[in-house]
Amino acid sequence: MAAIIDGKAIAADVRAQVALDAAALEERTGHRAGLVTILVGEDPASEVYVRNKIAACREAGMESFHEPMPATSSQREVLEMVDRMNADDRVDGILVQSPLPAGLDFKEVLERIDPAKDVDGFHPLNVGRLVANQPGMVACTPKGVMELLDRSGVELEGRNAVVVGRSDIVGKPVALLLLHRSATVTICHSRTRDLPDVTRSADILIAAVGRPEMITGDMVRPGATVIDVGVNRTDDGLRGDVHFPSASEVAGAITPVPGGVGPMTIAMLLRNTVDAATARRTA
Ligand code: NAP
Repeated sequence: MAAIIDGKAIAADVRAQVALDAAALEERTGHRAGLVTILVGEDPASEVYVRNKIAACREAGMESFHEPMPATSSQREVLEMVDRMNADDRVDGILVQSPLPAGLDFKEVLERIDPAKDVDGFHPLNVGRLVANQPGMVACTPKGVMELLDRSGVELEGRNAVVVGRSDIVGKPVALLLLHRSATVTICHSRTRDLPDVTRSADILIAAVGRPEMITGDMVRPGATVIDVGVNRTDDGLRGDVHFPSASEVAGAITPVPGGVGPMTIAMLLRNTVDAATARRTA
């Protein structure tokens, strides 16, 4: 039976450290690190996410600003809001909650964010820095995955890492982070042939597919570390991309869903915000 990688406990640890760093920054500079969430429209799931982010900020002793905008907002109005937040000295991190209502161009909005305040790590400049292995803002979920691996003592150098999924927000950045740590990385996607053959070669298997329980135990190499990024709402409740009952029989270590990668994403958002605040105050 695999060891369980406890994302909840690791995230709590990260958040405690972030709170200490935020307090130290405030003591040193008088500035309290601040995150703004911009929410356009009234998507109920997005409202829950934003509420959680605001609560997490406050719990870490950070400032939290919320800018709700009507679903009827124009592209120009959203861009103007981003401009205001870029110019606002109280704000260190800007998060535009996705998805935006139909008709708005999320890419253009992301590109408008000051890269130094881009705590989601989605701005093309930060993506480029990640590709070039230069310091920059790294997307929260991939960064959280790396933290889970590191805190669990998983060796990466020279090991086979297989990432299932090639999205801009999870698959690609996590593959790059693993590559920069000298893992041998394979990226799989919907056109990959013989997926089980590839996943069975993984010492480290990252599932970021968005298909409930598609990675089954027979696709896992005995002793492998399995990180399940998936969050899928099914009639039976929340499920990951990994079939936990069978995979946990074979893996050496595995993250549960919920309680694995999920809590790390918010923890890393707080981390990025305090790091952005520190960089802006000490530049
Ligand atoms: P996405 O943009 O939909 O990408 C899914 C990827 O999986 C695509 O690259 C797709 O391939 C690939 N794929 C789909 N079906 C496949 C198959 N049968 N075999 C192999 N690959 C297949 O999803 P995402 O945004 O990366 O999210 C992935 C999962 O992570 C979702 O469950 C999402 O809810 C979850 N997530 C969790 C967090 C968190 O905080 N825990 C954060 C972000 C996302 P193609 O490119 O060929 O289409």
